[in-house]
Amino acid sequence: LGEQLRQAQKMEAVGQLTGGIAHDFNNLLTGISGALEMLELRLSQGRADDLARYIGVAQTATARAAALTHRLLAFSRRQPLDPHPINIARLIADMEDLVRRTVGPSILVEIVHPGNLWPILADGNQLENALLNLVINARDAMPSGGQLTIRTACVHFDGKEAADRALEPGDYLAVSVSDTGTGMTAEVLDHVFEPFFTTKAQGAGTGLGLSMIYGFVRQSHGQLSIDSIVGEGTTIWMYLPRHDGPLVDPVPVVEPPAPAAG
Ligand code: ADP
Repeated sequence: LGEQLRQAQKMEAVGQLTGGIAHDFNNLLTGISGALEMLELRLSQGRADDLARYIGVAQTATARAAALTHRLLAFSRRQPLDPHPINIARLIADMEDLVRRTVGPSILVEIVHPGNLWPILADGNQLENALLNLVINARDAMPSGGQLTIRTACVHFDGKEAADRALEPGDYLAVSVSDTGTGMTAEVLDHVFEPFFTTKAQGAGTGLGLSMIYGFVRQSHGQLSIDSIVGEGTTIWMYLPRHDGPLVDPVPVVEPPAPAAG
């Protein structure tokens, strides 16, 4: 029932959202149409003043409308999943360079695996995108530096544990991204999975990251969960079903950093 209620609330939020977008879009069209009318008037009067200004108004509004539809398209384009057996330790190792470059030198990156991992069946590209999105959010939550931890674990959910998470009972591979950043207030936590919800400055965030990750994880028969404490940091867990295959390599060898020269 809890899940159904949440789903209903989400649908309501999506309804409000599309209403809001239709409204914004209509305002842009009104601006474009107004500018065109002024141009027509000027031309019919044989006047050349302000022509560039009205053309500029129409162009700006057109560009904003295009950006709006682009975001909508990107959101609605639910790419079909292409699941393959994945060794998540390997996938994370392959991303490590990118992760370090993304967060920059002021954030310490730590990757922690248990001894042995279950393989999972997932779309590798979308899983990488999801992890990178979580890393970007973690970085943005630590503007003056901190620690980012990517952790994996093998977990088993039965009965109530599974039901509470709206999961089938069984084995899951858990992967989390933690930060020592701002954390989220209860208010933010209530809305994070809604498409276009963002607290970031205009242009800095689309508000689509977590809603897309949620969509991907649910489509993969998994679940997402968030632990967050304001002022301490955030951990976001992704649970993905175990693939029925042999255990995979524990941890790829990571070279310790070379001692500083001199
Ligand atoms: P975006 O990152 O574009 O804002 P997301 O859907 O990924 O969109 O995130 C929505 C919001 O959730 C963010 O604007 C931010 O307020 C909050 N958030 C997400 N991840 C974190 C995090 N690790 N720490 C603090 N807040 C976060």
